Amino acid sequence: MPRTPLIAGNWKMVLDHQQGTLLVQKLDWTLKDARHDYSAVEVAVLPSHPSLRTVQTLIEGDKLSIRLGAQDVSAHEAGAYTGEVSAAQLAKLGVTYVAVGHSERRQHHGEDDAVVRAKTARALAGGLVPIVCVGEPLEVRKAEQHVEHTVGQVTQALTGLSAEQVAGLVLAYEPVWAIGTGEVATPQDAQEVCAALRSAVAEQFDQASADAVRVLYGGSVKPANIASIMQQPDVDGALVGGASTDAGDFAAIVRFR
Ligand code: PGA
Repeated sequence: MPRTPLIAGNWKMVLDHQQGTLLVQKLDWTLKDARHDYSAVEVAVLPSHPSLRTVQTLIEGDKLSIRLGAQDVSAHEAGAYTGEVSAAQLAKLGVTYVAVGHSERRQHHGEDDAVVRAKTARALAGGLVPIVCVGEPLEVRKAEQHVEHTVGQVTQALTGLSAEQVAGLVLAYEPVWAIGTGEVATPQDAQEVCAALRSAVAEQFDQASADAVRVLYGGSVKPANIASIMQQPDVDGALVGGASTDAGDFAAIVRFR
């Protein structure tokens, strides 16, 4: 079965709920205006937690074919964890996807592979689809250790899951040096690592889950570079930061063909 491409917009801590609502409305108008075929590409937005409810109400009320995602989830199931948001709470709000292990979480919040693994498992148990983010810093890329580094991160994150669970989740290769820098990986760079991650899944689980798992590229994706990235056989979509906070740019990325 061919993998449905996924274009997910990670708004980070940029848009508030009013700006987010406006953006989703504009995005939908633009895509409909361009007669975008929603069945060909899945579109998701990942607002900050306080905006989820408002965006969800809009999506549901207007029956938009845009999926809702969150940017983070607690590694704990429920209970006395002040400030945390559980997978069950997100799922109840109509959230489909959740980013786990984004490099900004790893870097600024000390999330290591064990935390990423716990969050991935918790997201799945709570009924969410994790978007497990991996990527190498510049010094690792310079040392040409990027494949080992990212494969190691994926192997750690997926340990303990079943092949069936892995088949349904999403991986995102986001080289740290390309995030928010304007420096995009070449399509060949993206393909090299995305293919390596898929092979790693085949080795750790089975070929069927490797064929089914979607692997995204992220890092300075823009309307001008999306087409060549999406031409790569192992790239199944994009995780878009900066450009996803502009409705026109994000719509142009969604319509990459
Ligand atoms: P960017 O961010 O598109 O602004 O580089 C990507 C991400 O962090 O997911």
